[in-house]
Parts: sequence; C-alpha cells; structure tokens
Amino acid sequence: MQQDFGVARFTRRDAIRVLAAGTGLGALPALTGGSDVLAGLQRTGAPGALTRRLPRGSIIRTLLRDVPPEALGTGAVLFHEHLSINLGGLGRGGRQGAPPLAPVTDNVDLIAQLVNKAGTEGVSCIVDGGHTDMGRKLDDLRTIARRTNVHIVASGGFYMQRVYPPDIATRSEDQLADDLVRQATEGRFGAFGEIGEDPNGAELTLDERKVFRAVGKAAVRTGVPVFTHNSYGTGPNVPKDIGLQQLDILESTGLKPDRMAIGHTCCLNDPQVAIIKEIARRGAFVGFDRVTTVQQIMPDEQKVAMALALLDAGHSDKLLLSADFTGQRTLDAGPGYGRTLTVFVPMLRKAGVDEATLHAILHDNPRRFLAFVPKKTSSSID
Ligand SMILES: [Zn+2]
Repeated sequence: MQQDFGVARFTRRDAIRVLAAGTGLGALPALTGGSDVLAGLQRTGAPGALTRRLPRGSIIRTLLRDVPPEALGTGAVLFHEHLSINLGGLGRGGRQGAPPLAPVTDNVDLIAQLVNKAGTEGVSCIVDGGHTDMGRKLDDLRTIARRTNVHIVASGGFYMQRVYPPDIATRSEDQLADDLVRQATEGRFGAFGEIGEDPNGAELTLDERKVFRAVGKAAVRTGVPVFTHNSYGTGPNVPKDIGLQQLDILESTGLKPDRMAIGHTCCLNDPQVAIIKEIARRGAFVGFDRVTTVQQIMPDEQKVAMALALLDAGHSDKLLLSADFTGQRTLDAGPGYGRTLTVFVPMLRKAGVDEATLHAILHDNPRRFLAFVPKKTSSSID
C-alpha cells in the first residue's frame, strides 16, 4: 500500500531554486550523463574543496592500500553493499524461518564481473558491509579487489543478536573493543559496519548495546567510521527513533557524529521526515542505503520524496546513497552494483536535484565519511 508522506512534490524549478542555495561542493563532471539545465551550477564548486576540508594525512583504507581521498577516482562511492555474504538460516531478506539463501557471492568470478560493470557505470569504490558473523569472506573480497578497477573497502564488527558468536555474552565491552581494533588492523578494515539490532525487539538487547559501545570505542581508537543497520520496515515493533538511539550509544563512547552513518533510514516510515532531519542536525550521515531494493517496504518514489525533503532542509552534506545489494537479484538480467547510479540517481535528477548536489552526495559525502587519519592503536585493558 502506498503511504502518503505529506512531502511537498517539488517542481524541477522549485528544486533548482532550493538546491542552488546548497553546498556548492564539487565541480567534477556528472557521473552518469549530463543535465542540460544546470551546467552553470556544476561550475560553482572549487577544485580540491573536498581535500581542503579534511584533516592533513587523511586516507581511505581500502583492502589493498591506503588511498588519499582525492586519489580514489572521480566516480561514486557506494558505502553499503555486499560482495561476500552468507546469512544462511536467516534466509532471504534476513527473515527467520525462510529457506536458506544460496550465497550467490560464493561465485567470485560473477561478483568480480558485476563489480567491473559497476565501474563502467561510474562507481569508483564499494564498501562491503559484511563481517564474519554475516559469512563475509575477506579472501574473496581481496580477490575481487585485485581483479577489478573498483576500490574495495572491507568492514568489521557484529551484525545483530541472533547471529552473534556465543562468547559475546561473556566478553566485556573493552575486550570486544580490543578484538575489533586488532581485527581492523590485521584485516585492513576501512569501516565498522553494518552494526545492527534484531527486528523482533522494541529496543536493543543488552548484548547489542554492548556491541555498539565496543564498536564506538574501537572507532575512536582507530579513526575508522561506523555505519549501522536498522530494522525499519522489517520489524513491527521497531521504534522510529531507534536510529537516534544508535547515535546516542555510539556518541556515549566519545565517537563524533560525523564518524557515523545511521543506516536504512530510507525504509523509515516518517511522514514528517523528522527523524532523518534530526540525525543530520546532530551531525551524523543519513544512510539511504536501500535505494532500488526492498521495494515492498518503501517504494523508491517515496525515498526520492524523503531525500528531497532532507535536501530542502539544508542537509545535502549528510546524505549517503547505496543499495545494500547482494548480487542475489541479478544474474546479468537486471541492474547490478551500479543500480544506485543507473536507477535511483536518474529519479533524483528527474525530480530536480542538480548535478552539483548529486556530485556532493555521490562523490564528496562518502569520501568525507570514509576518510580518517590513521592512529597508533593500543589495548584498553593491558
Ligand atoms: Zn547490508
């Protein structure tokens, strides 16, 4: 059933007027074809503006090497996809009791092909959002990274209560943080994510709170950013402000909001767009990381309306786009990892979002999110 979001439908002229007053970030060519209308706006950004806004020594940690943000290519960064994943008993869509999902990502040749195709569609870098408890295989990611021209960033952490390893309950927050710091260093993690909560609960479990605190501490100690998973749309009891609760818990560890992306907010039924505006106002990135996917939860048209409302409120520097794609729904027939660019971005463009703003969202924002100055790490408990 379609929900009425109460979000004003923008005319192209309205959107141009609003967005022309926006960030002025970026001056590089359009990523996926030109707009005939807004060439002037594309000239508003100053070359190198992104780099000047980052601390000296900032890098993006890919699996193969540390890359200065300005050297990550000229294309988009997808901050939450899956190139290696096996949720096993969690089944399709992560629902308990569903038949096991055959892990299409076990076919590394196919995934490498799909990643290369995304590269031709304007993708420079893909962040894999999996970790060990999601069946992510780091060696497979390394193989894909070596075989493609797309930069691959690996992540670490724990997913949600029902897939946690048994010893989560007995290990302390600081022991978990130490483990995560060590794993991040050894595995060259460029992010912690996706860090989530179970869709069956109205609030985070005690273990999930402990994991969020441990991840926050590990992020503070390493500089590595964090992105979260929310059960928006999949859990009937999930409160709308669960993303703000995640932000609160992470912030309680000393992690700055600009080191976080609160995920799956594009699946949030929030007619006033109040929650995502609050996330952005507090300084965290707003993760629209299920665009083009999970249509039964939130149609893309409504995701576009929500994105426009967020931009209208002046938060174009906080929006991140990705599709949380696992490769499962494409075997060459449909759009693959580039679907954010080939399917969703044209919808934003049609709704009036200008090229400079699209460039900020797809190019600058994720680079600012991922970039950090590497720190010398030490144990918290020795
Ligand atoms: Zn995901």
